[in-house]
Amino acid sequence: MASAHVVVIAFPFSSHTVMFLRLARALAAAAPAATVSFVSTASSLARLRTASASALQVQGNLRFVEVREGGATGEMADVPLLSRVLLFMASAEAGGLSDALEAARVSAGGARVSCVVADAFMWMSADAAAAAAVAAPWVPVWTGGPSALLAHLRADALRRDLGEQADASRADELLTSHLGLGSYRVRDLPDGIVSGDPNYPFLQLLRRIEQQLHRASTAVALNTFPGLVPQEVMAGLAAELPNCVPFGPFHLLPSTEDSAAAAAATDPNGCLAWLDGHPARTVAYVSFGTVVAAGPEELRELAAGLEAAGAPFLWSLREESWPHLPPGFMERGVGLVVPWVPQVQVLGHASVGAFVTHAGWASVLEGVCAGVPMACRPVLSDQRTNARSVHLWGFGTTIDEPVTRAGVAAVVSSLLNDDQGATMWARMQEMRGKVASAFAPGGSSRNNFDKFVKMVCALSP
Ligand code: UDP
Repeated sequence: MASAHVVVIAFPFSSHTVMFLRLARALAAAAPAATVSFVSTASSLARLRTASASALQVQGNLRFVEVREGGATGEMADVPLLSRVLLFMASAEAGGLSDALEAARVSAGGARVSCVVADAFMWMSADAAAAAAVAAPWVPVWTGGPSALLAHLRADALRRDLGEQADASRADELLTSHLGLGSYRVRDLPDGIVSGDPNYPFLQLLRRIEQQLHRASTAVALNTFPGLVPQEVMAGLAAELPNCVPFGPFHLLPSTEDSAAAAAATDPNGCLAWLDGHPARTVAYVSFGTVVAAGPEELRELAAGLEAAGAPFLWSLREESWPHLPPGFMERGVGLVVPWVPQVQVLGHASVGAFVTHAGWASVLEGVCAGVPMACRPVLSDQRTNARSVHLWGFGTTIDEPVTRAGVAAVVSSLLNDDQGATMWARMQEMRGKVASAFAPGGSSRNNFDKFVKMVCALSP
C-alpha cells in the first residue's frame, strides 16, 4: 500500500493558521512514514515565519504548499480583513484550492492525496477533496468552542424555533429544547444563527460552513478535550455528527518545534522579564486576540477600570488603538502596554492571576491550561457562546455591557482579591490538572490524537 499523503488545509487568517500549523507539525511528527502537506497563502506563511523563526523549519515529511491569495500579493496589505477573507474564499472556491491540492501532489513527487484534513472554515475543501481528480476523504477540524459548533449544527432547528431574527424579548430564554444547549440563552448564540444581517458576507460564510459540516461522514476533529466539555454538550454533538474526535488543546500537541526558541523569538517587548518583577497572582493580563478591537470609548473605560483596580496589568493592544488611551496613561506606568506578547508563556507566568479576554476559543483554552480565571468581554462571532461556557463551567465571569470603568475595576479586583476569585482559581487548578492528565500517557487527548493520526493515515481514496 502506498504511504499516506495527508493534506492539511489552513484558514489563512487570524489565529487559525498558527493553530493549524501546530496540528500539521504534530501529525507529521506522529506519522513519520506519511507525507504531510500544509496548505496556506504566501502571506500567512510569511507571517508565521516572522512570528517564529522555527515555525516553518523543515521537518522531513512536512511540506509547505501555497494557495492563491485571491488578490494581487503585495497590494493586499491595506485591504480590510473581511475583504481579504472574501477575496480569498472566492478564489479558493473558483479553483484555487483544487490547484493547491494538485500542487501538493506534484511537490510530494506525485504522491496521490490520500486524505484532506481541513479547517472547517474552508468549507469548499469538501468539494475539492471529492472532485474526481482527488477523490480523497475529507476530515474537517473545528478550531472553535464545542458549544458554538453545536449551535451551528443546530442552526436550522434554532431558526425554526426562534425565527431568522430572534425577538429581543427572548434574549434571556434558555434553549432547553435543544440537546446540549439547555444552559445557554438565546443571547449566547454565535452571530448569524438567529441574529445579524443574513446578507452580511461573513454570516453567509458561516452558513456555508454549517451546511458542509453535516457532510462530514468520517470524522470531525475538535480543539477541546472530554474532561472540559460537559457531557450534555458532547451528547448534543454526537447526535449531530457521527464521529467527533476531541484531542485538544491543539497548542499542547507534541511537536518538533523548539518552543523555547519560538517563545524567545516572540517576546521582543520583554513581557516575561517585566512579569518576573511581580509577586505571584498579582497581575491582570489583558488581550482581545488578533481580530477584535474595542471602540475608543470602551477602550477608555477599560483603561480607567484597569487603573482603578489598582493591580499591575500587562495589556496586549495593537498600536492603532494606543491614541485612544486616556491622556498620560502610558506615562503613568501602572501597567505595561505592548502590541504583542507570547500569550501562552505570559498566562503560564506565576505572577498572572487574572485574564481579561474577548473569549476567543484559543484564549479560553490557553487560560484553562494555565489555570488563570477569566473576565470575559465577548464581542463577536462565537465569543458570546464561549463566554457563557466560561461562566457555566466556573472559570470566570463576564464584564457587563456597556463596559464601564467601575465594572472593569470590580471584576478585575474580584478575580485577584476576593473569595469568588479564589473559588474560580481553585476550579481552574482542577481543570489545569485535567488538561495535564489528558496529555499524559493513556490520557484522553493523547489517545484520541493517536486514533486520529492512525485514521487519517489509513484512509485512502
Ligand atoms: N496571541 C498572542 N499574543 C498576543 C495576542 C494574541 O500570542 O499578544 C494569540 C493567543 O495566544 C491565541 C491567539 O493569538 O492563541 C488568539 O486566538 P483567539 O481564538 O483567542 O482569538 P482570535 O484572535 O481568533 O479572535
